[in-house]
Amino acid sequence: MHRRIIAPGALAAAVLLLAIPASAAPRSPGAPGIGDPYYPAYGNGGYDVSHYDLRLKYQPATDELEGTATLVARTTQDLSSFNLDFLLDVGEVRVNGAKASFRTSGEHELEITPKTPLAKGAPVTVVVRYRGVPSSKKAYGFTSWHRTPDGGVAANEPEAAAWWFPSNDHPLDKATYDVSVQVPDGTQAISNGTLQSTSSRLGWTRWNWRSDKPQTTYLATLAVGRFDITTGTTESGIPVLNAYSKDLGGHAGAARASIERTGEIADWLTGYFGPYPYNALGGYVPNTTTGYALETQTRPYYSPRQFANGSNVSVVVHELAHQWYGDDVSLKRWKDIWINEGFARYAQWLWSEHEGEGTAQELADYVYASHPADDPFWTVKPGDPGPENQFDIAVYDRGALAVQALRNEIGDEAFFAILKGWPRKYAHGNASVADFQRYAEEVSGKPLAALFDTWLFQPSKPGAPAARAAAVAKGPRAVSQPRSWKKIAATNGVHGRPGAEHGEHGR
Ligand SMILES: [Zn+2]
Repeated sequence: MHRRIIAPGALAAAVLLLAIPASAAPRSPGAPGIGDPYYPAYGNGGYDVSHYDLRLKYQPATDELEGTATLVARTTQDLSSFNLDFLLDVGEVRVNGAKASFRTSGEHELEITPKTPLAKGAPVTVVVRYRGVPSSKKAYGFTSWHRTPDGGVAANEPEAAAWWFPSNDHPLDKATYDVSVQVPDGTQAISNGTLQSTSSRLGWTRWNWRSDKPQTTYLATLAVGRFDITTGTTESGIPVLNAYSKDLGGHAGAARASIERTGEIADWLTGYFGPYPYNALGGYVPNTTTGYALETQTRPYYSPRQFANGSNVSVVVHELAHQWYGDDVSLKRWKDIWINEGFARYAQWLWSEHEGEGTAQELADYVYASHPADDPFWTVKPGDPGPENQFDIAVYDRGALAVQALRNEIGDEAFFAILKGWPRKYAHGNASVADFQRYAEEVSGKPLAALFDTWLFQPSKPGAPAARAAAVAKGPRAVSQPRSWKKIAATNGVHGRPGAEHGEHGR
């Protein structure tokens, strides 16, 4: 939006405007979407949230969630009304203390009309009282709330928030969180960040969690159930808290053998990505039947099935890499998914190299040779895959191949400077694929438009880099499978909407 330069005459007009009651000033509704072409209704226009305070009560026996959400926000335009994204049943909304009218519309819109229109740039506090059964709510035909035998879990991408709190549901609007959840004694409520305190009263225990660094809505998580909690501290001093469902059965040992290495892996990743961006760390495994994992901020979500074939450290590497690539630096638009997944997958390749199970180059060669030119794999453009292919395997494998191509083009020194510099440059913010290209050109001093276009934006198999053409031209059998390949492939489909749940491959 362009602001006109105020001329003296206009100033006088502005003074006159002040004399008009606020309700008469021209105000317009906030947009029902934040402007993401992949998901037009996601997020909202007209305001920016800085903090969510969620005070909730959850009953595992019935899946009933009730509570009060207080949003601390600031308007970014004059507003006659604005939207939140939410699915549960709202009883009351207050804006700056006064009762506001509200109605629902679309797949997940809560339209709020404050008693008094809001001026641009003004602080605004929104209080929403609500209740409902999250597992009974659907948007676009699915639910992101996983009911478990002992409770429920909210963890999904690109959306999960609307099933448990009202929000501006898009990564562009990051905020801090206080999540306080009352659950029956003997049940645990797990969320992001630091466990500030717990208190028990009349059969109910309240769990108070705090995320004090900006966090996107899809990276906020809640899991209620019967969990064993382990705590510790990494060698570098970051507190770790992990939670395991008490009912993981045969997966329990493998889950712990993987996730208890969280501190070690996070410390190892700092060598590539720079200091860990948060003051809390961990992971949790609820008793769900889902197949994926998700980089929920500070405390990734892991499905029990990720550990069905034994320990799986690679998936822990992937989700922890996202703490820098995806969580600290989040995408601007969902089409920028490569800045998350290309690098989280590449971190798995670096781990393979570290473990002596195949170098990143060997993995890249294997991916390249495994997919012949007519494989639809190459029609997916990791730089703009489309919503239907957002979590396609090509976004991961071709995405990591693009990272290796960059490394080969600019050399290790510039490459590793970029890997470490990127999270610092855009810390706690948002960035796009174009921003990454610009940054890589700046650090390396090389023009990279052709390289990015070839590896991220062309719907065809790039020509083999000359130096390795001889080896890879002989086809898949000439390039041996790195030892880590099967473990890494087992983490495919680590993200996903329900529907992906029935097949871990093909995402
Ligand atoms: Zn990922």
